[in-house]
Amino acid sequence: MTTDAMIRTVGVHKGYRSGRVETPVLFDVGLEVAGGEFVAIIGTSGSGKSTLLNIIGGLDADYSGTVEVAGQDLSRLGDRQLSAFRNDRVGFIFQQFNLLEHLSCGENVALPAIFARRPDGEVVQRATEALDRVGLADRRGDLAANLSGGQKQRVAIARALYNRPQLLLCDEPTGNLDSTTGRQIIELFHQLNQEGMTLVIVTHEPRVSTTAHRVIRLEDGRIIDDDVASPAGPTEEG
Ligand code: ADP
Ligand code: MG
Repeated sequence: MTTDAMIRTVGVHKGYRSGRVETPVLFDVGLEVAGGEFVAIIGTSGSGKSTLLNIIGGLDADYSGTVEVAGQDLSRLGDRQLSAFRNDRVGFIFQQFNLLEHLSCGENVALPAIFARRPDGEVVQRATEALDRVGLADRRGDLAANLSGGQKQRVAIARALYNRPQLLLCDEPTGNLDSTTGRQIIELFHQLNQEGMTLVIVTHEPRVSTTAHRVIRLEDGRIIDDDVASPAGPTEEG
């Protein structure tokens, strides 16, 4: 086993069961992502992108094959260990933001702390730091409901950063944003990547796949293309 791989999957097979019928959606997916990579996953709707991302992130444990993330074999983790893994190692960003609208930005960002059981003073400080990282420290006390879409996605990113994960998994993060706002969010992902974060982004946006170091294409549950643009060098923007 290579030790510098952030993600390693071997022969991953996944099917969804309905009664006695299993519909396969991932076939023999083998993938290795090194720490510090910026990887885009593309493919038509229904090709298995979200399913694969959820398996890598430990949200879905119902598959066969091997999945190792940050040196941990996920199939060896029990429910509690898997939820600790998700909380400590991985940040998730979704298209629909998934904020609690009736809570403030700061409260939304601090939600992971509830699971991590950290002391209150540290929680406020870290939530503020995370909001500062996305340029929204001044909105800490504002209700999430009162933010624009781009601001909501920034708060969701701050929440994902709260536990200082090594890996960010993003599922169509700009899908609900206008193109200017989407570009700003992608710029932020590049900054995080330059600071050492590994990013895997499922996207339909050409501007993400052209700035990613590597583009993986899924079709009908199989990887049909895996193109490395330039070996983890700095990306040119604009
Ligand atoms: P993508 O993200 O590329 O659009 P998904 O991973 O969401 O694709 O879905 C892959 C396939 O699995 C699709 O055919 C979809 O209908 C099916 N699928 C996804 N989630 C479920 C589920 N919870 N139950 C049954 N089938 C599902
Ligand atoms: Mg999807």
